Amino acid sequence: MTGLTESTVRSEVRSWLEANWDPNLGLVEWRNKLIDAGWGAPHWPTAWHGRDLPVGLVPVVEEEFKRIGAVGVAKAGIRTLAAATILAHGSDMLKSKFLRRSLTGEDTWCQLFSEPGSGSDVAGAVTRADFKGNQWVVNGQKVWTTSAHKADWGLLLARTDWDKPKHQGLSYFILDMKQPGVSVHPLKQMNGYASFNQVFITDAIVPPENLVDEVGRGWAVCTTTLMHERRGADGLRSWNQASDRPERIYAEERAEIATTMEPYKWYPQRAGRVDLIMQRAKETGGIDDPVIRQDIAKVLIMSKAAEWTARRARTAQEQGKPQGPEGSLGKLASSYIARAAARVHTELTGADALLSGEDSPMNGLIAEILVSVPATSIAGGTDEIQHNIIAERVLGMPKEISVDTGKPFRDVPRNTVR
Ligand SMILES: Cc1cc2nc3c(=O)[nH]c(=O)nc-3n(C[C@H](O)[C@H](O)[C@H](O)COP(=O)(O)OP(=O)(O)OC[C@H]3O[C@@H](n4cnc5c(N)ncnc54)[C@H](O)[C@@H]3O)c2cc1C
Repeated sequence: MTGLTESTVRSEVRSWLEANWDPNLGLVEWRNKLIDAGWGAPHWPTAWHGRDLPVGLVPVVEEEFKRIGAVGVAKAGIRTLAAATILAHGSDMLKSKFLRRSLTGEDTWCQLFSEPGSGSDVAGAVTRADFKGNQWVVNGQKVWTTSAHKADWGLLLARTDWDKPKHQGLSYFILDMKQPGVSVHPLKQMNGYASFNQVFITDAIVPPENLVDEVGRGWAVCTTTLMHERRGADGLRSWNQASDRPERIYAEERAEIATTMEPYKWYPQRAGRVDLIMQRAKETGGIDDPVIRQDIAKVLIMSKAAEWTARRARTAQEQGKPQGPEGSLGKLASSYIARAAARVHTELTGADALLSGEDSPMNGLIAEILVSVPATSIAGGTDEIQHNIIAERVLGMPKEISVDTGKPFRDVPRNTVR
């Protein structure tokens, strides 16, 4: 789309919203209307529900939605990663089947990558998919699968060829989570939530059309998903804000946020709640402590710098440049910021930061921050893995010593045998 300016986009979306926005519509009905008009995901291609709008102009559209109080498409959770991956690698059939429903919020998703023996080394997956008759038959175990207990579909990385080297024997599938061969068991975290699960897969079926890209290209597809996850860093929590207005659409959106987004309730805390620091500093008097002030300044500066890196990434994307190192840099920065913010919250609150329950600081929110922040350094690839990626791909340092490249995967020593 060329020749577009902020003011033309603004006036176009404004007049469309004025003519069409109706808070008495059902949520899905409204979102379908939005998608038909291309305003649901305006930066997506015109052929697939978008308007080819440069990413930099999307905030203009969002501002207009906010101005009139209009509800947007569903955009939080793994569905955003599913949509980005399918847009990049999926067949037209997969795009027709899944993209619209990811925007309407009718489908929920989970990411079936990590296994008990392969988390950081995700390419070491041993869950297997064998082509038998006219379908794929999947067997194995996945773990730490966020939202699997709510998901309709799973993004599945599985081994399809044991004679090829590690990265070349993988394929990527869309797995129907509601079939008898898929058994989901929640895991409870130290912050009290149970967002992720173990998933046992026994003779589960995947029809051939649910293969994403080609057989053996699973690692490339998985990398696309992870790049989007890392670039989003903590963005999975950016769901629409619930409104307390009475009309039907707001009530349906509130119900959606309460159920689908329930596993992500603690994600703001895992990011360290930088937004609360100044308020807490004033409430507790910590603002007058010269040492704490230094720490507060450091967190706020790091947070600003990370925001600018994210903006640079956005600009690069807008200019059609391939994904750069900003994903890993941003992901790493979010870990540093979360940890530094948790430290400042502890300095401000003192030993009471450890208390939970009604009469504890901020109703236990400070304690929840402390036990949630470590997740930022693990989810979507640990800090050490981001260090490795930056060292090798950005700084051009020598690659990590590898004992498993080149040889057939079946001959690679590993701690799980299948
Ligand atoms: C909140 C949260 C949500 C998650 N959601 C999902 C999900 O939806 N789907 C999913 O598939 N997974 C999910 N995960 C799992 C996550 O991707 C893995 O925990 C992560 O990749 C690390 O793998 P691991 O836990 O097996 O640790 P390991 O890989 O066993 O690592 C253990 C330690 O060794 C270090 N290490 C490992 N390899 C190297 C190396 N080469 N160089 C240096 N250090 C190394 C690691 O940094 C870490 O400190 C989630 C995790 C969290 C915390």
